[in-house]
Amino acid sequence: MLQDTLTGIVVAPWSPLYNESRVDYNTRFPPFTPAYIVYCQKSMDVIRAIRWAISHRVRFRIRSGGHSYEAYSLLNGGIVIDVSAINHVDYAPDTGIAKIGAGAKLIDIYQSLWDLGRVTIPGGSCATVGIAGLTLGGGFGLVSRKFGLTCDSVVGLSMVDARGQLVEASSSQNPDLFWASRGGGGNNFGVVTEFRFKTHPVSDVTIFFLQWTWDRLWDVVPGFQQWADPFTLDDRIVAILTLPAAVTGHVSITGEFLGDPQALLPLLAPLFKIAGMTEKVIRPMSYIDAVKHFAGIATEPHRWIAHGVPHHDTFKNTSAYTFEIFPDPAIRVIENALTHVPGPSALVQLDTYGGAIARVPEDATAFPHRKARSCLQFQTYWTKPEDTDAHIRWVEKFRRSMLPYTSGAYVNYCDSRIERWPRDYYDGNLKRLLAVKRRWDPKNAFQFPQGLSQLVRAPGFCRSKINPGYDSNS
Ligand SMILES: Cc1cc2nc3c(=O)[nH]c(=O)nc-3n(C[C@H](O)[C@H](O)[C@H](O)COP(=O)(O)OP(=O)(O)OC[C@H]3O[C@@H](n4cnc5c(N)ncnc54)[C@H](O)[C@@H]3O)c2cc1C
Repeated sequence: MLQDTLTGIVVAPWSPLYNESRVDYNTRFPPFTPAYIVYCQKSMDVIRAIRWAISHRVRFRIRSGGHSYEAYSLLNGGIVIDVSAINHVDYAPDTGIAKIGAGAKLIDIYQSLWDLGRVTIPGGSCATVGIAGLTLGGGFGLVSRKFGLTCDSVVGLSMVDARGQLVEASSSQNPDLFWASRGGGGNNFGVVTEFRFKTHPVSDVTIFFLQWTWDRLWDVVPGFQQWADPFTLDDRIVAILTLPAAVTGHVSITGEFLGDPQALLPLLAPLFKIAGMTEKVIRPMSYIDAVKHFAGIATEPHRWIAHGVPHHDTFKNTSAYTFEIFPDPAIRVIENALTHVPGPSALVQLDTYGGAIARVPEDATAFPHRKARSCLQFQTYWTKPEDTDAHIRWVEKFRRSMLPYTSGAYVNYCDSRIERWPRDYYDGNLKRLLAVKRRWDPKNAFQFPQGLSQLVRAPGFCRSKINPGYDSNS
């Protein structure tokens, strides 16, 4: 009988693959102990897994790239429905539409689209992030001010819903589900098996890296914020201000420009005027080389990497949005936090928003933070288990002390310590998201600690209740 059959590659605790399959990207979490991990090869495997889990009243999680900051794609007991093998990337040059399997990793998507048609989608910088988690939560990257968030390029998707049926969502089919799937976060409504994206032509770009000594913080932060105005900064630029621990001795601005160096130089002129610059690198390259550069694949020094510190994967990261230029007390908080760090790999980044991101109305998709100036990423990385508490405390204290100057948080940088997470992640779109949740998952089968499942009245079908906890997610 269909409902009694799990298909695909089913990894059980006694399978050779089990140990490597139950570890999260973030090694802050010890290995999980799922009952089974189901590596789905096609939509029918997902359908069977959902029907099996629901008919057996077994808790489940969904996994694409496995990069959830809080390991929300894994659990103890229950099953992990892993779609990483559904990873096709097909491109139709006549329509410009790409069909992408929900388990595809970003680097494979960028490379395939480049090879197939010199086109791209505006995704994140990390090579191994999965397209499903990224897109469902929004998706920001180095061409987002020109082409929008990743979710803004979605024109349709296929999803296995809570009844175990494959449904389509687009502007004309199940538009409520389509709306919610663009920013409403993963694991709330169903299992996406495929996205359809409109693509964007790309060719050559210019990447840049500007550095100052750390004691120029008070010049660089206001200088960057004034320059990175969401409505006046050229859409072709995405820039990231990285403020690392004071002990590192420097601060930097790095970014990408969809054009040549001659066109970029005048646009960067206001930054060149910030006193005390110690390094300036402007380098043209192909779009795909820039992708690899920012993903840390090219053999460049660490400092080029857009997303924090590479090679460390034990971390606690969180986020907030800024809508105003920081007043002096906010810079003082930043200065103080970065001076008193639990280790050298502690930092905060400001990602420039605006441009195409801001031109989409706040309620046009479920992603609400359209009008932000920047997304702040508070990050800290460590290697020794005994340092964990100090790092988590630091990041939490830093985030909290910036609350007077920030609002909201990015669902893709999920943080189990954010108490007001429903408002912070979804803001004015929360009510509508809950209505979509009730319609598409009336029995509340899709559950996790920061899921919409926590906010709807339906009791849930599981035998055991999920315990929301700080550093255990199941
Ligand atoms: C090193 C690193 C770099 C990053 N860089 C960026 C960046 O540049 N820009 C950016 O915007 N974000 C970035 N992120 C954050 C990233 O967008 C989120 O962590 C995202 O949720 C990861 O998606 P995933 O599929 O890899 O993770 P997963 O852990 O597999 O999934 C994340 C969430 O989505 C759910 N989910 C997964 N697959 C499906 C599916 N098929 N259907 C429904 N729900 C599903 C999961 O259950 C989980 O709740 C980065 C994260 C890391 C760790």
